[in-house]
Amino acid sequence: MKTAGLAIMGGTFDPVHNGHLRTAVEILDRYHYSALKLIPCFQPVHKDRPSVMPQQRLDMVKLAMSGDARLSVDSREIDREGPSYSIDTLRDLRVEMGPNEPLIMVLGMDSFLSLPTWHDWQKIIQYAHFLVVSRPGWEPDLISELSGFCENYRAASPHELQCAPSGRIWFETLTPLGISSSMIRGLARKNESIAYLLPEPVQNYIEQHQLYR
Ligand code: ATP
Ligand code: MG
Repeated sequence: MKTAGLAIMGGTFDPVHNGHLRTAVEILDRYHYSALKLIPCFQPVHKDRPSVMPQQRLDMVKLAMSGDARLSVDSREIDREGPSYSIDTLRDLRVEMGPNEPLIMVLGMDSFLSLPTWHDWQKIIQYAHFLVVSRPGWEPDLISELSGFCENYRAASPHELQCAPSGRIWFETLTPLGISSSMIRGLARKNESIAYLLPEPVQNYIEQHQLYR
């Protein structure tokens, strides 16, 4: 069984939830990448500054790692501080990994649709593949800029992502989970239960630190 490739999933993780985690394990089970790193950003570039400190978002992602050895947290964006541009993170990772190992950036359809607003977005594909996962409520209606980009780079099979270091896009349908961090923040604000949407240790952390009130 082939295990080539490092998958990464960036996000605000404000807080991390089962939509993120289920995505990660389904991708690992399907493609046997050697590992998947969750990379919480320090400062999201296209969102308001989160109400919760970067260190607390990082703590919650650590608490969510319940012994699946393939999953880990990478704190480089939080350690780096400042605006978290994906291109900087990918350049860093590429230096560490060397030129040949596949690097797979996993992201939800909503994030992918916003790609043309990202810093240096057209260069990202030189450093990694895109594995775009379905997300309830988001249809792949690609605006012109993005549809041309997809035509250029779309893989004919997902296995192409394991045969080259970067440069391919693949769309994947996973178990649909209509969970979002904003929904969890909204429930917490109204004092409603957030149980079963995220791992219990993360729920306990939110309650203990009275986050999102
Ligand atoms: P918010 O509601 O604050 O935007 P979020 O739930 O979208 O939070 P992010 O941290 O913004 O979480 O997302 C990180 C990555 O995970 C993005 O690529 C996003 O598309 C993906 N993602 C988040 N939730 C899901 C889900 N339920 N299913 C599939 N992908 C998801
Ligand atoms: Mg989001």
